[in-house]
Amino acid sequence: MMPLLTLDEASRVYRTRHGLFARPSEVRAVDRVSLEIAPGRTLGIVGESGCGKSTTGRLALGLEVPDAGIVRFRNTAMPLPGTPAWRALRRDMQLVFQDPLGAMDRRLTIAAQIAEPLEIHSVGDKTERADRVAQLLRDVGLRPDQAVRHPHELSGGQRQRAVLARALATKPALLVCDEPISALDVSIQAQIVNMLADIQAASGVAMLFISHDLKVIRQISHQIAVMYLGRVVERGDPDTIFAAPIHPYTRALVSAVPTPGPRRRDRIVLAGEPPNPAQRPSGCAFHPRCPVAVAGCRHEDPPARILPDGREVACHLAETPSWIAA
Ligand code: SF4
Repeated sequence: MMPLLTLDEASRVYRTRHGLFARPSEVRAVDRVSLEIAPGRTLGIVGESGCGKSTTGRLALGLEVPDAGIVRFRNTAMPLPGTPAWRALRRDMQLVFQDPLGAMDRRLTIAAQIAEPLEIHSVGDKTERADRVAQLLRDVGLRPDQAVRHPHELSGGQRQRAVLARALATKPALLVCDEPISALDVSIQAQIVNMLADIQAASGVAMLFISHDLKVIRQISHQIAVMYLGRVVERGDPDTIFAAPIHPYTRALVSAVPTPGPRRRDRIVLAGEPPNPAQRPSGCAFHPRCPVAVAGCRHEDPPARILPDGREVACHLAETPSWIAA
């Protein structure tokens, strides 16, 4: 199946200057990231704050332009942001943020907010738009009487449902969800995740789901990409990665996820804080925190390699059985 979205060795570098006479420094927010999302599937991106997952989401939507590499949507290079070609694509690609209140206009009713993209893209007449809004409210589990409410009259979970309804209004092919449930209670998180899975099954929308929570990512994703300091360090099938994570960073993340049943992996606690992206360590960027780093890790950036089980891992020890079995 042809991928809906492809990132091919995409990089995004920001140049910052602290002070008038200071030398500009480079922050490599996304570093040679290659990803694919098939129609109707979900790719989950997980990693700590500052790992580049949100920038990857913005590259996927064409909101950012890669400094190197290429982003393709339906096998065509992503047009530059703001161009007519890019604006036409926006109907097919929508973004959902963590903060629904910030994404909404407090003066408009929920129905008016959901109808907005239909009006912007001239979808249907007034009656058809009203029917579509009523359907979307049902799809996301909001009651008809909530259509005339304003954002501050709804709970956080209800607001996020309304934001999702608005994002789905134009029947996009791709939804980029950037930490969409992080601010919600755990019980509401589970409801939204289940709802997204139902919507995907019914509509065939593909999703790029970004979260720092590996448990949520596993629940919703068909493929997982683990990012560390701008790079994808492990990518593959969620069950394979959970059963036997290979990259030391993935192993630490997986070990921190609570598992039911008597057998629980020993938690791997990483030394140190996540490094500053502006002061990227040499060689493998994970080496200062890696519990199994070897001498070469300080100087040599490990290439991503595909393993026999189909996953991609960027670690010098990826094919070292003693480490994998440890
Ligand atoms: Fe650790 Fe070296 Fe692998 Fe990096 S390349 S994750 S430092 S073992």
